[in-house]
Amino acid sequence: MSDLLAYRDEVMACTRCRLSQGRTQVVFGSGNPDADLMFVGEAPGFHEDKQGIPFVGQAGKLLEKLLAGIGLRRDDVYIANVLKCRPPGNRDPQPDEIEACESHLFHQIELIRPHVVATLGNFATKLLSGRPTGITRVHGQEQEVDLGGNRVVLYPLYHPAAALYTPKMLEVLDSDFRRLPELLGREILREDEPQPEPLLVAEPAVQLGLF
Ligand code: URA
Repeated sequence: MSDLLAYRDEVMACTRCRLSQGRTQVVFGSGNPDADLMFVGEAPGFHEDKQGIPFVGQAGKLLEKLLAGIGLRRDDVYIANVLKCRPPGNRDPQPDEIEACESHLFHQIELIRPHVVATLGNFATKLLSGRPTGITRVHGQEQEVDLGGNRVVLYPLYHPAAALYTPKMLEVLDSDFRRLPELLGREILREDEPQPEPLLVAEPAVQLGLF
């Protein structure tokens, strides 16, 4: 059995936080365990909780469409979430739930060793960048970071669930998404090499909960 499958079995029995009490099952992650590209979303919703697979609802359909636009299928990538269990009523993840669950995600990244980790929305972006800056400011700005013991390109994207209802955001998500092939081909700089300065864009005053 691969290390990832063995780890999955371990996480399936997790009771580290209150979410274990209300879940149908743990949604560990799915896709190619050797993927160069890994997506990290927020948390399972209703359908994910029932099926045990991330991004199987409307947001997942959009993610598949965006992947098709760059010539990839979901089996080519690995998809996981910050939280492995569904928060009741799809409420936001709580800080103590993220803290309880984060080592599962870091260990997944360590085992998969992706080249690019694309964070979908605020929760994944803030956790994996280690910074409080919201997705509205950092989307589309890649950054090299150490994650799970490896140097990876961290690439923040708008959450597909948010883009579903906001055409402008979908346009931006689609255009950010189209840079993924370039990032997948990009050489990883060593830590001591100078990093390009991220371009910061002014943050609008009104924001939806997902970002
Ligand atoms: N489905 C998931 O698996 N994660 C999300 O963040 C949203 C929908």
